[in-house]
Amino acid sequence: MSDPKVNTTPEQRPGLSTRCVHAGDVRDPQGAIHPPLYGHSTFAFDSTADLLDVVEGRREGNLYTRYGLNPTIRSLERKLADLEDTQSALAFGSGMAAEAATFLSHIKTGEHIVCLGDVYGGTFELLGENLPRLGIETTFLTAGEANQLPDVLTDRTRIVFFETPSNPNLDIFDIAAITAQAHKAGALVVVDNTFATPVNQNPLHHGADLVIHSATKYLGGHSDLTAGAVAGPAELLAPIAAWRKNLGQVIAPEIASLLARSIRTLVVRVRAQNTAATAVAEYLAEHPRVTKVNYPGLATGDQATIVKTQMRGHGGMLSFLVDGDANATAAVVDRLRVFSIAASLGGAESLVTQPITTTHHGLDPADRARRGIADSMVRLSIGLEDADDLIADLDQALTLPTRTV
Ligand code: PLP
Repeated sequence: MSDPKVNTTPEQRPGLSTRCVHAGDVRDPQGAIHPPLYGHSTFAFDSTADLLDVVEGRREGNLYTRYGLNPTIRSLERKLADLEDTQSALAFGSGMAAEAATFLSHIKTGEHIVCLGDVYGGTFELLGENLPRLGIETTFLTAGEANQLPDVLTDRTRIVFFETPSNPNLDIFDIAAITAQAHKAGALVVVDNTFATPVNQNPLHHGADLVIHSATKYLGGHSDLTAGAVAGPAELLAPIAAWRKNLGQVIAPEIASLLARSIRTLVVRVRAQNTAATAVAEYLAEHPRVTKVNYPGLATGDQATIVKTQMRGHGGMLSFLVDGDANATAAVVDRLRVFSIAASLGGAESLVTQPITTTHHGLDPADRARRGIADSMVRLSIGLEDADDLIADLDQALTLPTRTV
């Protein structure tokens, strides 16, 4: 294979759309327009010396797919690193695999994590139930308690973790301010950038150390693959790669190829979703049965200032509160026709979920209430349908059925 076609030196750096299409690509000797799919588990060498050069790290090469040393995976990882504007990336079989390997490789027994705000339910379980069994404790601060961060950082704190925007409240955290506090205490900052995507936000530009994606969502973009990624400087990724190798969490080459295919259209998809979500959020904000809309584009005060500083677009995710109880809210959800009731996000199809029934079902109700995850909350993932059709669907679902006496 020849050198990558797109030069990414700072002076000549192409725009994000161009990089989504071309970054990481290498021209195959047959002239295939994209890097081909190498599903092979192992790769052959001309000599033992040649093999040792790769095994002992003197040159990059393909060796064994579980190690990530496979051309399809390495090509995807160069694309992922480029989109987050950093040196390296590792691709995983899921977002949770990426999170687990990151925590396990940078924290040991007796050390400590701080988790800010609402995070995906699986992350709550990993930090709150699985890692404590290994003697790794997490302090959880709600968004409203985030100003207590300096008080909970200790000399044992190794990672401060958060999503911004967060799931499902769409809270915004100030990456630069949190990073300054965390670094003072010697802790790394790890940001889950799944909701924003690299189109709308690059956490590493604001000082974060590592960025994580559930690539199952916007990067995959079609609800037909499960994958994860972590990106950052090579020295922070090396220990993560070692855990990925021995936990066997690497992405399958077939999925890596599909994911690279999807990333080529990331910018057009996410920008269309930004526009449609803004229209939906503005419609909901005016609706008499909606008591609150959570959307970065509607943020006010300090949150609006942070959005302006660190986000280039407002994303395709929003949540809102219905004027009614859990059952009345479920009835609204059940009346939707264009939106599908499903737990994921980031695909071409618009999805709806009541977080208490899916993503945050496992949380203790008191903890949910403390976090503002109300029974009447509905979360929307805006897809690629026409915004007018989505609004018409919400309009009919929010219209109370007329009582027949
Ligand atoms: N991070 C966020 C924000 C998520 O929404 C999810 C899943 O919904 C994950 C991480 C976990 O990703 P995966 O399902 O790919 O393991």
